[in-house]
Amino acid sequence: MARLVDDTLLRAQLRADLKAAPDLARALSRLALERGGPRDLACAGRAIAAALNLAEQLGRQPDLPENLQELTATLAAAPRDLATELAAALDDDLPLLSRDGGFVRPAYDGRLDEERALGSETRAVVAALQARLMDETDLRSLKIKHNGVLGFFVEVPAAHGARLLEAPFRETFIRRQTLANCMRFTTTELAELETRIAQAHGAALDIEIAIFTRLREAVLAQTLELQALADALAELDVTAALAEVSATRAYCRPEVDDSLAFAIEGGRHPVVELMVKTEGQSFVANHADLSGSDAEGGGSLWLVTGPNMGGKSTFLRQNALIAILAQMGCYVPADSAHIGVVDRLFSRVGASDDIAHGRSTFMVEMVETAAILNRATRRSLVVLDEIGRGTATFDGLSIAWAAVEALHETTGCRALFATHFHELTSLAKTLSRVSNVTMKVREWEGEVVFLHEVGPGAADRSYGIQVARLAGLPDPVIARAKQVLDVLEQRSVGTASSKDKASVLDDLPLFAHRPAPAEKAKDVVHEALDTIRPDEMTPREAIEALYHLKKIRDDARRN
Ligand code: ATP
Repeated sequence: MARLVDDTLLRAQLRADLKAAPDLARALSRLALERGGPRDLACAGRAIAAALNLAEQLGRQPDLPENLQELTATLAAAPRDLATELAAALDDDLPLLSRDGGFVRPAYDGRLDEERALGSETRAVVAALQARLMDETDLRSLKIKHNGVLGFFVEVPAAHGARLLEAPFRETFIRRQTLANCMRFTTTELAELETRIAQAHGAALDIEIAIFTRLREAVLAQTLELQALADALAELDVTAALAEVSATRAYCRPEVDDSLAFAIEGGRHPVVELMVKTEGQSFVANHADLSGSDAEGGGSLWLVTGPNMGGKSTFLRQNALIAILAQMGCYVPADSAHIGVVDRLFSRVGASDDIAHGRSTFMVEMVETAAILNRATRRSLVVLDEIGRGTATFDGLSIAWAAVEALHETTGCRALFATHFHELTSLAKTLSRVSNVTMKVREWEGEVVFLHEVGPGAADRSYGIQVARLAGLPDPVIARAKQVLDVLEQRSVGTASSKDKASVLDDLPLFAHRPAPAEKAKDVVHEALDTIRPDEMTPREAIEALYHLKKIRDDARRN
């Protein structure tokens, strides 16, 4: 990987040559299952040719690392003779199915060429026969045609048809069809010719199918070699593609060992980073350190709190992806990374249900959490994006609390745990390897600004209502939510049970529908109109009433 990241020229050459390598594994399985056609044979030939070309390219490189040397050896062992045979046999333009024929290159098989020549010669004979019949009948408009129903037939315009039904022509011409504009006939000679053409075509097709079967068997006889070749091509393709990404997107080479380290400097999410960039913004790189040791009792656990939309999920997932990329041998989107080999990566993210199999949303969440707590080991990496949100607050909080304790005390794995249960952050006081980090946010003119930056500490609020407003919840709902939140916060029900919470809200002022200003103005004008008696007014009173109406409408709109 490192060689291909550093050697831009070699990487570009290999990637260009790899474009010529088709999907060999797919062609092989189609041929083995007797579903393959001439195109699959050609695919095997092209793959072998591409492999030999790549092996030559790589073979010219000095000081190739061991894994590239092994790949080169496998590619160089591709069956060259088979590719030569396939290239000689198969034409450039190939049909999908062997039974369509016409896929063997001219001059590849003498007998096939003979049958094909017979086929085309017979066509010349048809043309000669047409010319002779024209002369004999003296009908310039006589034609020999062909269709799928009648095969070959003689066609003359309807006006001349009657002539052919009389002597001397009726001995030769046998009527087949009468249409509005024309009459169709056959002759004994034409029927014989047709049989010869069909036989030539059938014989040619039989030879082509025999050639296809022989080539297919030749390919399948080398299945093992070709499978190894397909694997080597795939490995080179993946390596070159990952090297391209690593070189062009500023990834770094991770240090992977058997410690319990997990130290990432300037980590980024490979996909969110690209999306954010296309929107003209920049991705905020973040640091993570979950390192620990056996002496300390295992890896560390970071409790990630912060506002909604703050970037918690992104942070969790980017670290999981960095671990996967590092262990598959790729560079990682970070400034530096030191990772002790992870035996398994466990993640619990998002909310989903599986009602068809009898599992509700909360049940799925718990099944996933159970799998993590039962199966994770000290070497595992665990990312948990919220636990316990699908049930009553205190049940959820208690489960999340106990899960953090179990991960710390029993499992000792490296873990990231994102949560909106701010109460959990007090665990950092009692559990030595638990740290609190938070996604930073700034409030500016009543708006929240997400900085997407991870820093030490704990968030004190989630800014859920602000995010709900950004999402487009109607203004009255947002205003009412703020009212409810104020009541809850003022009466500091954080420590009360949910039953108490409900009773605290019992005396909350009723949700008042505040009419919009335009509606309000309409109401006051209607009320005023009810009091006006136009028949009893002087012109001066009428004009005053009119000004009055306009004024109260304007006042109502302003308030
Ligand atoms: P919630 O609590 O609502 O689930 P969250 O804290 O998990 O939110 P994310 O879903 O991770 O937040 O991030 C929200 C959005 O913020 C992302 O879709 C992305 O566009 C942006 N974002 C996240 N992290 C970063 C970052 N480091 N740099 C730039 N943008 C980011």
